[in-house]
Amino acid sequence: ATPAATMIGTSIGATNGVLFTGGDVLERVRDVDTVVFDKTGTLTEGEMTLTDVVALDRTAADGGRPEGETRADGAGATAAAEGGDGATPTAPETDLLYAAASAESGSEHPLADAVVDGAAERGIDPTTPTGFENAAGKGVRATVDGRDVLVGNPALLADAGVPVDAAADVRERLESEGKTAMLVAIDGRLAGVVAAADTVKPSAKRAVDGLQERGLTVRMLTGDNERTARAVADELGIPAENVRAEVLPDEKADAVDAIQSDGSRAMMVGDGVNDAPALAAAYVGAAIGSGTDVAIEAADVTLMRDDPADVLKAVNISDATLRKIE
Ligand code: ADP
Ligand code: MG
Repeated sequence: ATPAATMIGTSIGATNGVLFTGGDVLERVRDVDTVVFDKTGTLTEGEMTLTDVVALDRTAADGGRPEGETRADGAGATAAAEGGDGATPTAPETDLLYAAASAESGSEHPLADAVVDGAAERGIDPTTPTGFENAAGKGVRATVDGRDVLVGNPALLADAGVPVDAAADVRERLESEGKTAMLVAIDGRLAGVVAAADTVKPSAKRAVDGLQERGLTVRMLTGDNERTARAVADELGIPAENVRAEVLPDEKADAVDAIQSDGSRAMMVGDGVNDAPALAAAYVGAAIGSGTDVAIEAADVTLMRDDPADVLKAVNISDATLRKIE
Protein backbone atom coordinates (compact mmCIF):
# COMPACT_ATOMS: atom_id res chain seq x y z
CA ALA A 1 0.00 0.00 0.00
CA THR A 2 1.06 3.56 -0.54
CA PRO A 3 2.05 5.74 2.41
CA ALA A 4 -1.13 7.74 1.72
CA ALA A 5 -3.33 4.66 2.07
CA THR A 6 -1.60 3.77 5.31
CA MET A 7 -2.08 7.28 6.64
CA ILE A 8 -5.75 7.35 5.76
CA GLY A 9 -6.42 3.95 7.27
CA THR A 10 -4.47 4.77 10.40
CA SER A 11 -6.31 8.02 10.87
CA ILE A 12 -9.76 6.48 10.25
CA GLY A 13 -8.77 3.86 12.82
CA ALA A 14 -7.75 6.50 15.35
CA THR A 15 -11.05 8.36 15.09
CA ASN A 16 -12.80 5.03 15.65
CA GLY A 17 -10.77 4.08 18.71
CA VAL A 18 -8.60 1.59 16.83
CA LEU A 19 -4.90 2.45 17.05
CA PHE A 20 -2.66 0.80 14.47
CA THR A 21 0.94 1.15 15.66
CA GLY A 22 2.81 0.85 12.40
CA GLY A 23 2.34 1.28 8.69
CA ASP A 24 2.58 -2.43 7.94
CA VAL A 25 -0.01 -3.36 10.57
CA LEU A 26 -2.91 -2.25 8.42
CA GLU A 27 -1.77 -4.60 5.65
CA ARG A 28 -1.28 -7.50 8.01
CA VAL A 29 -4.73 -7.06 9.52
CA ARG A 30 -6.26 -7.57 6.09
CA ASP A 31 -4.55 -10.96 5.77
CA VAL A 32 -5.80 -12.26 9.11
CA ASP A 33 -7.98 -15.38 8.78
CA THR A 34 -8.29 -16.34 12.44
CA VAL A 35 -9.13 -14.29 15.51
CA VAL A 36 -8.06 -15.71 18.86
CA PHE A 37 -9.70 -14.11 21.87
CA ASP A 38 -8.50 -14.30 25.44
CA LYS A 39 -11.60 -14.84 27.56
CA THR A 40 -11.27 -12.95 30.82
CA GLY A 41 -11.22 -9.18 30.44
CA THR A 42 -11.44 -9.42 26.67
CA LEU A 43 -14.71 -11.21 25.85
CA THR A 44 -15.93 -10.81 29.40
CA GLU A 45 -15.93 -7.73 31.60
CA GLY A 46 -13.22 -9.22 33.78
CA GLU A 47 -15.21 -7.97 36.74
CA MET A 48 -15.82 -10.99 38.88
CA THR A 49 -18.46 -11.10 41.57
CA LEU A 50 -18.44 -13.60 44.40
CA THR A 51 -21.47 -15.88 44.02
CA ASP A 52 -20.99 -18.92 46.26
CA VAL A 53 -19.25 -19.93 49.47
CA VAL A 54 -19.41 -23.63 50.28
CA ALA A 55 -17.65 -25.07 53.32
CA LEU A 56 -16.87 -28.75 52.93
CA ASP A 57 -15.44 -29.67 56.27
CA ARG A 58 -16.36 -27.84 59.43
CA THR A 59 -13.41 -29.20 61.34
CA ALA A 60 -10.71 -28.08 58.92
CA ALA A 61 -11.56 -24.49 59.70
CA ASP A 62 -11.06 -25.00 63.45
CA GLY A 63 -7.75 -26.70 62.87
CA GLY A 64 -9.06 -29.76 64.71
CA ARG A 65 -10.91 -32.85 63.63
CA PRO A 66 -13.23 -34.61 66.08
CA GLU A 67 -12.83 -38.32 66.47
CA GLY A 68 -14.83 -40.43 64.10
CA GLU A 69 -14.97 -37.76 61.44
CA THR A 70 -12.32 -38.65 58.94
CA ARG A 71 -13.65 -37.54 55.62
CA ALA A 72 -14.15 -34.15 54.13
CA ASP A 73 -16.70 -35.18 51.56
CA GLY A 74 -19.47 -33.32 49.78
CA ALA A 75 -22.04 -34.82 52.14
CA GLY A 76 -20.91 -32.36 54.79
CA ALA A 77 -21.33 -29.44 52.47
CA THR A 78 -23.48 -26.57 53.54
CA ALA A 79 -24.62 -23.85 51.26
CA ALA A 80 -25.85 -21.13 53.56
CA ALA A 81 -23.98 -18.33 51.84
CA GLU A 82 -24.73 -19.35 48.28
CA GLY A 83 -26.19 -17.29 45.54
CA GLY A 84 -25.48 -13.85 46.96
CA ASP A 85 -28.98 -13.91 48.42
CA GLY A 86 -27.85 -11.85 51.38
CA ALA A 87 -28.08 -14.79 53.79
CA THR A 88 -25.70 -14.44 56.71
CA PRO A 89 -22.91 -16.95 56.29
CA THR A 90 -22.74 -19.58 59.00
CA ALA A 91 -19.55 -19.98 61.02
CA PRO A 92 -17.71 -22.42 58.70
CA GLU A 93 -18.54 -20.29 55.67
CA THR A 94 -17.49 -17.14 57.49
CA ASP A 95 -14.13 -18.61 58.40
CA LEU A 96 -13.66 -20.06 54.93
CA LEU A 97 -14.33 -16.71 53.33
CA TYR A 98 -12.20 -14.89 55.91
CA ALA A 99 -9.24 -17.18 55.19
CA ALA A 100 -9.71 -17.00 51.42
CA ALA A 101 -10.15 -13.22 51.36
CA SER A 102 -7.13 -12.67 53.60
CA ALA A 103 -4.98 -14.81 51.30
CA GLU A 104 -6.35 -13.08 48.19
CA SER A 105 -5.78 -9.59 49.60
CA GLY A 106 -2.19 -9.99 48.38
CA SER A 107 -3.27 -10.54 44.77
CA GLU A 108 -4.52 -8.17 42.10
CA HIS A 109 -6.21 -10.86 40.03
CA PRO A 110 -9.89 -10.17 39.18
CA LEU A 111 -10.79 -13.37 41.04
CA ALA A 112 -8.93 -12.10 44.09
CA ASP A 113 -10.85 -8.82 43.96
CA ALA A 114 -14.12 -10.76 43.80
CA VAL A 115 -13.26 -12.73 46.92
CA VAL A 116 -12.05 -9.68 48.86
CA ASP A 117 -15.02 -7.51 47.84
CA GLY A 118 -17.46 -10.37 48.43
CA ALA A 119 -16.11 -10.82 51.95
CA ALA A 120 -16.46 -7.09 52.67
CA GLU A 121 -20.07 -7.14 51.42
CA ARG A 122 -20.77 -9.96 53.87
CA GLY A 123 -19.29 -7.98 56.76
CA ILE A 124 -16.02 -9.91 56.91
CA ASP A 125 -12.84 -7.97 57.52
CA PRO A 126 -9.82 -9.84 56.13
CA THR A 127 -6.36 -9.67 57.69
CA THR A 128 -3.07 -9.02 55.89
CA PRO A 129 -1.31 -12.30 55.19
CA THR A 130 2.21 -12.69 56.57
CA GLY A 131 3.55 -14.82 53.74
CA PHE A 132 2.23 -14.51 50.21
CA GLU A 133 3.02 -16.31 46.97
CA ASN A 134 1.32 -15.95 43.64
CA ALA A 135 1.21 -19.02 41.40
CA ALA A 136 0.46 -17.62 37.94
CA GLY A 137 -2.52 -19.30 36.29
CA LYS A 138 -3.20 -21.36 39.41
CA GLY A 139 -3.93 -19.19 42.44
CA VAL A 140 -2.35 -17.96 45.65
CA ARG A 141 -0.73 -19.36 48.76
CA ALA A 142 -0.55 -17.28 51.93
CA THR A 143 -0.06 -17.50 55.66
CA VAL A 144 -3.16 -16.22 57.42
CA ASP A 145 -3.06 -16.04 61.24
CA GLY A 146 -0.38 -18.72 61.13
CA ARG A 147 -2.45 -20.99 58.90
CA ASP A 148 -1.30 -22.12 55.48
CA VAL A 149 -4.04 -21.11 53.04
CA LEU A 150 -4.30 -22.05 49.37
CA VAL A 151 -6.91 -20.55 47.04
CA GLY A 152 -6.96 -21.64 43.44
CA ASN A 153 -7.60 -24.36 40.91
CA PRO A 154 -7.07 -28.11 41.30
CA ALA A 155 -3.54 -27.80 39.87
CA LEU A 156 -2.55 -25.47 42.72
CA LEU A 157 -3.78 -27.90 45.36
CA ALA A 158 -2.27 -30.87 43.53
CA ASP A 159 1.12 -29.10 43.56
CA ALA A 160 0.80 -28.90 47.34
CA GLY A 161 -0.33 -32.51 47.64
CA VAL A 162 -3.86 -31.66 48.80
CA PRO A 163 -6.53 -34.15 47.58
CA VAL A 164 -9.40 -32.39 45.84
CA ASP A 165 -11.89 -35.19 45.10
CA ALA A 166 -14.24 -34.15 47.89
CA ALA A 167 -14.96 -30.91 46.02
CA ALA A 168 -15.61 -32.52 42.65
CA ASP A 169 -19.42 -32.41 42.72
CA VAL A 170 -19.65 -28.86 44.02
CA ARG A 171 -17.03 -27.70 41.54
CA GLU A 172 -18.74 -29.35 38.56
CA ARG A 173 -22.08 -27.83 39.45
CA LEU A 174 -20.62 -24.32 39.79
CA GLU A 175 -18.57 -24.57 36.60
CA SER A 176 -21.44 -25.81 34.49
CA GLU A 177 -23.20 -22.63 35.61
CA GLY A 178 -20.33 -20.72 33.96
CA LYS A 179 -18.79 -19.77 37.31
CA THR A 180 -15.13 -20.05 38.23
CA ALA A 181 -14.74 -22.28 41.27
CA MET A 182 -11.78 -21.70 43.55
CA LEU A 183 -10.77 -24.43 45.95
CA VAL A 184 -9.67 -23.37 49.40
CA ALA A 185 -7.27 -25.48 51.45
CA ILE A 186 -6.33 -24.68 55.02
CA ASP A 187 -3.29 -26.34 56.59
CA GLY A 188 -3.08 -28.97 53.88
CA ARG A 189 -6.75 -29.93 53.88
CA LEU A 190 -9.52 -29.05 51.50
CA ALA A 191 -11.81 -26.66 53.41
CA GLY A 192 -14.28 -25.54 50.79
CA VAL A 193 -15.04 -23.85 47.52
CA VAL A 194 -15.73 -20.24 46.67
CA ALA A 195 -16.99 -19.21 43.26
CA ALA A 196 -17.11 -16.05 41.22
CA ALA A 197 -18.87 -15.19 38.01
CA ASP A 198 -18.01 -12.80 35.25
CA THR A 199 -20.35 -11.35 32.65
CA VAL A 200 -19.89 -11.50 28.91
CA LYS A 201 -19.43 -8.04 27.36
CA PRO A 202 -22.62 -6.88 25.64
CA SER A 203 -20.90 -6.57 22.24
CA ALA A 204 -18.95 -9.84 22.41
CA LYS A 205 -21.63 -11.87 20.65
CA ARG A 206 -21.91 -9.27 17.90
CA ALA A 207 -18.11 -9.38 17.46
CA VAL A 208 -18.02 -13.16 17.18
CA ASP A 209 -21.03 -13.25 14.82
CA GLY A 210 -19.63 -10.50 12.60
CA LEU A 211 -16.18 -12.08 12.31
CA GLN A 212 -17.65 -15.50 11.53
CA GLU A 213 -19.97 -13.99 8.93
CA ARG A 214 -16.91 -12.46 7.32
CA GLY A 215 -15.46 -15.95 7.04
CA LEU A 216 -12.93 -15.65 9.85
CA THR A 217 -12.35 -18.50 12.28
CA VAL A 218 -12.97 -17.42 15.86
CA ARG A 219 -11.12 -19.16 18.68
CA MET A 220 -10.86 -18.66 22.43
CA LEU A 221 -7.86 -19.23 24.72
CA THR A 222 -8.17 -19.13 28.47
CA GLY A 223 -6.47 -20.13 31.67
CA ASP A 224 -9.90 -20.85 33.06
CA ASN A 225 -11.18 -24.40 33.33
CA GLU A 226 -12.76 -26.38 30.52
CA ARG A 227 -16.34 -26.33 31.76
CA THR A 228 -16.51 -22.60 32.48
CA ALA A 229 -14.79 -21.87 29.16
CA ARG A 230 -17.34 -24.02 27.31
CA ALA A 231 -20.27 -22.29 29.00
CA VAL A 232 -18.95 -18.89 27.86
CA ALA A 233 -18.04 -20.08 24.34
CA ASP A 234 -21.49 -21.59 24.00
CA GLU A 235 -23.13 -18.31 24.90
CA LEU A 236 -21.03 -16.59 22.20
CA GLY A 237 -21.41 -19.15 19.43
CA ILE A 238 -17.75 -20.19 19.43
CA PRO A 239 -17.61 -23.92 18.56
CA ALA A 240 -16.30 -26.17 21.33
CA GLU A 241 -13.45 -27.42 19.13
CA ASN A 242 -12.16 -23.84 18.83
CA VAL A 243 -11.76 -23.45 22.58
CA ARG A 244 -8.53 -24.09 24.45
CA ALA A 245 -8.92 -23.93 28.21
CA GLU A 246 -6.53 -24.39 31.14
CA VAL A 247 -3.71 -22.73 29.19
CA LEU A 248 -1.02 -21.56 31.60
CA PRO A 249 0.26 -17.98 31.10
CA ASP A 250 3.60 -19.15 29.68
CA GLU A 251 1.81 -21.53 27.32
CA LYS A 252 -0.32 -18.91 25.59
CA ALA A 253 2.34 -17.98 23.04
CA ASP A 254 2.87 -21.66 22.21
CA ALA A 255 -0.87 -22.08 21.80
CA VAL A 256 -0.85 -19.24 19.26
CA ASP A 257 2.11 -20.83 17.45
CA ALA A 258 0.20 -24.11 17.32
CA ILE A 259 -2.84 -22.38 15.82
CA GLN A 260 -0.61 -20.74 13.19
CA SER A 261 1.36 -23.92 12.44
CA ASP A 262 -1.01 -24.77 9.56
CA GLY A 263 -0.31 -21.41 7.94
CA SER A 264 -3.21 -19.57 9.59
CA ARG A 265 -2.65 -15.89 10.20
CA ALA A 266 -3.99 -15.12 13.63
CA MET A 267 -4.95 -11.93 15.34
CA MET A 268 -4.63 -12.51 19.07
CA VAL A 269 -6.80 -10.22 21.19
CA GLY A 270 -5.91 -9.93 24.87
CA ASP A 271 -5.71 -7.65 27.86
CA GLY A 272 -3.39 -9.05 30.48
CA VAL A 273 0.31 -9.23 31.29
CA ASN A 274 -0.12 -12.96 30.62
CA ASP A 275 -1.21 -12.23 27.08
CA ALA A 276 1.83 -10.16 26.00
CA PRO A 277 3.92 -13.09 24.66
CA ALA A 278 0.88 -14.43 22.79
CA LEU A 279 0.23 -10.99 21.28
CA ALA A 280 3.85 -10.92 20.10
CA ALA A 281 3.64 -14.47 18.69
CA ALA A 282 0.51 -13.75 16.68
CA TYR A 283 0.59 -12.42 13.12
CA VAL A 284 -1.22 -9.43 14.60
CA GLY A 285 -1.45 -8.67 18.32
CA ALA A 286 -4.39 -6.57 19.51
CA ALA A 287 -4.65 -5.22 23.05
CA ILE A 288 -7.72 -4.03 24.90
CA GLY A 289 -7.08 -0.36 25.78
CA SER A 290 -7.94 -0.73 29.46
CA GLY A 291 -5.58 -3.70 29.65
CA THR A 292 -2.13 -3.69 31.17
CA ASP A 293 0.65 -1.54 29.70
CA VAL A 294 2.68 -4.67 29.01
CA ALA A 295 -0.05 -6.01 26.73
CA ILE A 296 -0.43 -2.66 24.97
CA GLU A 297 3.34 -2.42 24.39
CA ALA A 298 3.40 -5.90 22.88
CA ALA A 299 0.47 -5.15 20.59
CA ASP A 300 0.24 -3.96 16.97
CA VAL A 301 -3.29 -2.68 17.46
CA THR A 302 -4.89 -1.14 20.55
CA LEU A 303 -8.66 -1.14 20.93
CA MET A 304 -9.25 2.04 22.92
CA ARG A 305 -12.94 1.37 23.61
CA ASP A 306 -12.33 -2.02 25.22
CA ASP A 307 -14.89 -3.31 22.79
CA PRO A 308 -14.32 -6.71 21.16
CA ALA A 309 -16.54 -5.58 18.26
CA ASP A 310 -13.75 -3.13 17.37
CA VAL A 311 -11.78 -6.12 16.09
CA LEU A 312 -14.32 -6.30 13.31
CA LYS A 313 -13.92 -2.56 12.80
CA ALA A 314 -10.13 -2.98 12.49
CA VAL A 315 -10.60 -5.66 9.84
CA ASN A 316 -13.11 -3.52 7.95
CA ILE A 317 -10.96 -0.37 8.04
CA SER A 318 -7.92 -2.24 6.83
CA ASP A 319 -9.84 -3.90 4.05
CA ALA A 320 -11.71 -0.78 2.92
CA THR A 321 -8.74 1.60 2.85
CA LEU A 322 -6.34 -0.78 1.18
CA ARG A 323 -8.87 -1.96 -1.38
CA LYS A 324 -9.79 1.60 -2.33
CA ILE A 325 -6.22 2.62 -3.03
CA GLU A 326 -4.87 -0.46 -4.78
P1 ADP B 1 -7.37 -16.04 32.19
O1 ADP B 1 -6.50 -16.63 31.12
O2 ADP B 1 -8.80 -16.50 32.03
O3 ADP B 1 -7.25 -14.54 32.24
P2 ADP B 1 -5.53 -16.74 34.45
O4 ADP B 1 -4.45 -17.36 33.62
O5 ADP B 1 -5.22 -15.45 35.08
O6 ADP B 1 -6.93 -16.68 33.63
O7 ADP B 1 -5.92 -17.80 35.60
C1 ADP B 1 -6.25 -19.12 35.29
C2 ADP B 1 -6.92 -19.83 36.44
O8 ADP B 1 -6.03 -19.89 37.58
C3 ADP B 1 -8.16 -19.14 36.97
O9 ADP B 1 -9.30 -19.48 36.24
C4 ADP B 1 -8.20 -19.67 38.40
O10 ADP B 1 -8.75 -20.98 38.44
C5 ADP B 1 -6.75 -19.74 38.79
N1 ADP B 1 -6.31 -18.50 39.45
C6 ADP B 1 -5.46 -17.58 38.96
N2 ADP B 1 -5.26 -16.58 39.85
C7 ADP B 1 -6.04 -16.86 40.92
C8 ADP B 1 -6.29 -16.21 42.18
N3 ADP B 1 -5.70 -15.06 42.55
N4 ADP B 1 -7.16 -16.81 43.03
C9 ADP B 1 -7.76 -17.98 42.70
N5 ADP B 1 -7.56 -18.63 41.56
C10 ADP B 1 -6.71 -18.10 40.67
MG1 MG C 1 -7.24 -12.08 30.63
